[in-house]
Amino acid sequence: MAPTIPPRLPLLIHARLVLPDRVLPEGWLLVEEGRVAALGTRIRKPKAAVVIEAPGKYLAPGFIDLHVHGGAGADYMDGTPEAVRTANRAHLRHGTTTIFPTTTTGAPAEIARMLTACGAVRESWTPADGARIGGVHLYGPYFAEDKVGCHSKAGRRAPEVAEYQQYLRSGLVKIATCAAELPGAEKFYRAARAAGCLVTCGHSNASWTEMARAFAAGMRHVDHFWCAMSSVPSLRARWGTPMQGSMEQFVLAEPEMSTEVIADGEHLAPELLRFAWKMKGASRLCLVTDANRALDCPPGRYRFGPQESGEWFESNGRVGLVPGVGLASSIRALDHMVRTMVRAGVPLEEAVRMASLTPAERVGLGAEVGSLEKGKRADLVLLDERLQVRQVWVDGAAVSLKAARRSGLGKQVLGEAERD
Ligand SMILES: [Zn+2]
Ligand SMILES: [Zn+2]
Repeated sequence: MAPTIPPRLPLLIHARLVLPDRVLPEGWLLVEEGRVAALGTRIRKPKAAVVIEAPGKYLAPGFIDLHVHGGAGADYMDGTPEAVRTANRAHLRHGTTTIFPTTTTGAPAEIARMLTACGAVRESWTPADGARIGGVHLYGPYFAEDKVGCHSKAGRRAPEVAEYQQYLRSGLVKIATCAAELPGAEKFYRAARAAGCLVTCGHSNASWTEMARAFAAGMRHVDHFWCAMSSVPSLRARWGTPMQGSMEQFVLAEPEMSTEVIADGEHLAPELLRFAWKMKGASRLCLVTDANRALDCPPGRYRFGPQESGEWFESNGRVGLVPGVGLASSIRALDHMVRTMVRAGVPLEEAVRMASLTPAERVGLGAEVGSLEKGKRADLVLLDERLQVRQVWVDGAAVSLKAARRSGLGKQVLGEAERD
């Protein structure tokens, strides 16, 4: 996947520009030295060495995925640089230019190996390696016992200071999840906050009171809204009456809290996607993929987490499933999530914002990426009228959308990124 346009040549793209608050119908954007040098409308368009005419198509900022486990046959927990690159290349073909590889539950050595692999890829990164790693999402293993979902139960535990300090010291972890009711959760949140992480509560049966304590310790986000989280009935089962506020009410009531939806159309019905967007607004709701290794792979059986020890699940070609248990994360990338939100009635600029600027702001990258703005990295996606990805640029370099045929990483990868 070699870049086809050198990033140093001035590049001018004519298209509809998707800004955070509106779409400029006849816009242009100039790239110089890998950054957005200028942008505007039809009048006074500058000259450039490379000109791309894309009338009617949408030029959007590259997508940013805060919660993603793998793709194209690879799970980040496979723990090799090759697996990390394979997944990152698959997501880049779908328009994701900044990615946060996400751990599952697992043994400390498996999590450490995943961090080492991501660190190695980040160190020597070029656009040929796929989406740029913004940081690692330390997601498992600190989940509530009754909310493990499709993750391995054996790899779950309460936070242990010596263990997580080792991960945080790597400097790679930028998002840190823990269930708020676990012993040691507040200490974990404070340590993760001090390390500059977006601190999040997930796979949890936390009550309002536990969420309020977590908030005081720096927690500001909840993973995949409505999935593996507490509700009023689940807390009634835990504590009896009077019925209590859950994670759901806390997120909706507290303006500083953000959350995310798996907008694949399989996890949440359109009315729930619309509801989450209306309640939190585009500046506090992120689209995530939560994609597993079955992205761009044929239906079949795969492992969620490490290739040797992960839990088996099935992909039916639309979503991951553990038969008899429930959903096992998505097999879609962020371009699909944007299309699903638009189909659910969300304006395009807000759907794109939730897949770019909002996640960038939540992890402190808002000045660098996430919108078409002068000075930001020229990480760009060109979408056609049906919102299918037609071209992707990273640092102004165009990348090939063709997938190399691979074997040895789970199932054979399909020829090209899925089109729907
Ligand atoms: Zn999860
Ligand atoms: Zn996940």
